[in-house]
Amino acid sequence: MQIAERLTKIPPYLFMELRKKIAKAKADGVDVISLAIGDPVEPTPDSIIEELCIQARDPENHRYPTDEEKGMRQFREEIAKWYKSRYGVGLDPATEALGLIGSKEGCHHFVLACINPGDIVLMTDPGYPAYRASILMGGGIPYSVPIRPENGYLPAFDEIPTDVVEKSRGLFLNYPNNPTGACATPAFLDRVVAFAKDNNIAVCYDNPYSEIVFDGQKRLSFLSADGAKEVGIELNSLSKPYNMTGWRIGMAVGNRDLIAAISKVKENTDSGIFNPIQFAGIQALRRENKNIPRMLKIYKTRRTRVLKTLAKIGIEFDPPKGTFYLWVPTPKGMSSLEFTNILFEKAAVVVAAGTAYGRYGEGFVRISLTVPDQRLEEAMVRIENAFIQRKKQWK
Ligand SMILES: *Cc1c(COP(=O)(O)O)cnc(C)c1O
Repeated sequence: MQIAERLTKIPPYLFMELRKKIAKAKADGVDVISLAIGDPVEPTPDSIIEELCIQARDPENHRYPTDEEKGMRQFREEIAKWYKSRYGVGLDPATEALGLIGSKEGCHHFVLACINPGDIVLMTDPGYPAYRASILMGGGIPYSVPIRPENGYLPAFDEIPTDVVEKSRGLFLNYPNNPTGACATPAFLDRVVAFAKDNNIAVCYDNPYSEIVFDGQKRLSFLSADGAKEVGIELNSLSKPYNMTGWRIGMAVGNRDLIAAISKVKENTDSGIFNPIQFAGIQALRRENKNIPRMLKIYKTRRTRVLKTLAKIGIEFDPPKGTFYLWVPTPKGMSSLEFTNILFEKAAVVVAAGTAYGRYGEGFVRISLTVPDQRLEEAMVRIENAFIQRKKQWK
């Protein structure tokens, strides 16, 4: 049987070796702590679950979702209200908002909606691996723009070769950024709009961490930039701010032609989100914003705790102010994979090697703060102890 080339082009998981070692250690009874995955462990707030249960009992909701691919009118209206109150962005719920089965599906459908075979789609390196996969599955050609600490992990558009820009029709951006935690600035968003306009490039601004910011950093939507709606869409998600990763609910907002094109893709792919989940989503957006500061406080405490351990073992840096990840430079002279392996072998702690997010991720690891406090504490103590034993090699 033939397997499609579009799938074989997607790079395999880079850390098979490590994954095997983890499986083996667990089988041997080692208590492995994973700080590698970004998935909140705290449960979804009760009122959201209650709403799901109530709506699930109504037979009206057992049918195809209302307004199918676009999402229920009430859900889209709630999205518009949320964008207004959180970001000062006005949206027409009829044409500028769309319910999604998570923002990840939006990445994929964006490519299907506006990219022809052979078009280049720009993304950042390091970056979220699903962009490359979406571009390849949609028949586009991915092109990675490096992002570096000295530029605040924002891409420099004038570094991209002219012939690449000419063939580019799409651009993925994501700030607050996974994996680096970097945040955008209003001036940067203006540059994005100008670059996209000048070069006829559609922007997909993936913003699932828009609410996860620290230390006075402002929440920012791409659509708050002048002209942003003319050049692109923003994706957002209930996964991260409301601890709803498993529910699969998110949104696309912005340019109405792109929104209509994505609706057309959805109409012919899935038939929208189960109504009770949309009702639960409305409940989240309307009544559970208090969950956000509650979670930010938890992440902030964990962040401080991890930074304390890192400082103790000689890793001091100025952490960017977004997301529930820390993008941590490796000890001097050590590669991402070496550091990842040492933490695993000496402390049974798993972190994500920076190179999983692209080659410019070399020299970093990503630590996720979405683990219970006690497990994080245990992991930090183990790392400190491992360091004391190895001190000579690490300095
Ligand atoms: C978590 C994450 C997503 C996926 O969000 P869903 O709404 O759960 O699909 C998308 N983009 C980035 C950068 C993420 O980290």
